Amino acid sequence: MNIHEYQAKALLRDYGAPVSDGRVVLRADEAKSKAGEMDGPLWVVKAQIHAGGRGKGRFEGAEEGKGGVRIARSVEEAAEEARAMLGRTLVTHQTGPAGKQVNRIYIEDGSDIARELYLALLVNRETGRIGFVCSTEGGMDIEEVAESTPEKIVSFDVDPATGFMPWHGRRVAFALELEGPQVKQCVKLMGQLYRAFVEKDMEQLEINPLIVTTGGDLKVLDAKVGFDGNALYRHPDIAELRDESEEDPKELQAGKYDLNYIALDGEIGCMVNGAGLAMATMDIIKLYGAEPANFLDVGGGATKEKVTEAFKIITSDPQVKGILVNIFGGIMRCDVIAEGVVAAVREVGLEVPLVVRLEGTNVEKGKAIINESGLNVIAADDLKDGAQKIVKAVKG
Ligand code: ADP
Ligand code: MG
Repeated sequence: MNIHEYQAKALLRDYGAPVSDGRVVLRADEAKSKAGEMDGPLWVVKAQIHAGGRGKGRFEGAEEGKGGVRIARSVEEAAEEARAMLGRTLVTHQTGPAGKQVNRIYIEDGSDIARELYLALLVNRETGRIGFVCSTEGGMDIEEVAESTPEKIVSFDVDPATGFMPWHGRRVAFALELEGPQVKQCVKLMGQLYRAFVEKDMEQLEINPLIVTTGGDLKVLDAKVGFDGNALYRHPDIAELRDESEEDPKELQAGKYDLNYIALDGEIGCMVNGAGLAMATMDIIKLYGAEPANFLDVGGGATKEKVTEAFKIITSDPQVKGILVNIFGGIMRCDVIAEGVVAAVREVGLEVPLVVRLEGTNVEKGKAIINESGLNVIAADDLKDGAQKIVKAVKG
């Protein structure tokens, strides 16, 4: 689960990290009074969406120019910029072409920047440890730095047996070419970030940029935080920060029914049981020349209602040009899947080709339910046959 920049900064402030004073604005008519609570002389007005690249982003329908991070020199100007962004759609390289609607604005004190640095904490999946990633090339796309000047990125892991030690902080300071009192500040800040990361079960904590002010101090100028969804039950305070309007409505709906669903970009909707089979199904669809529209594992003990909901979520995706149901019934029974599919089609209709491959527990019962339903279903014998048939039906 991700949170907004202003929420991340409030959280990091609680751990003692240096962040600017700021106010969140939810409605245009409160922008002026919120901005007026700060002294200036510079106000930075920042669109709050769950995506980076806001500064270089562009508002839908706008000519080139102002992005989602704007500098204002008076309270009036700050309020004006906030009003100009609220409710509009911001497109950045991370939002995809559809962009994201801006529903919240953060107005914060402007900083005088001497250097922009990059810092991230993440879980290194290879080592299973928390890792630091740092670079002197902050403020820009870290992917681009990794591509063109990978030597400018320094990364290392922290051994959980010792946890964070001051020398880890000094290592970051050295990589960021900090000097004098900044080194001490860095060691302290890295310790605070590491503690926040562990205590709050974060998955990712990216600060881009971490700045050195002209006064020589370190400051967290941007913050992107993601949490491990499986640990959220331990953090009701974090769960409360969720902004559902930022999430894919299909994934949100799937979450309510406890379905493992992830939206993808392709054209073939998949309904599969078991994560491994779901992965294999996506692979074989690609092998035969098409792209999956989603990952969906309906799980072991799915009910008819759950299957119905899953099918409805798949068909609600306008990109879906065909559906492949691939069930190897073990704990999951083929007749339950068949009933769910039939019920869902009765409810929402079926406008795209549907290929069904059923195998395993109660397979005859399942096939009979489908055959007797009068649905226009293409039956498949095995995984390969199913994938070939759905790709052919979609691509012709
Ligand atoms: P994004 O990464 O989404 O573009 P950032 O918060 O990193 O958004 O802001 C983009 C750039 O805007 C920063 O690299 C920095 O140069 C400038 N900026 C952001 N916040 C401030 C601030 N409070 N004071 C001065 N400059 C800022
Ligand atoms: Mg940034």
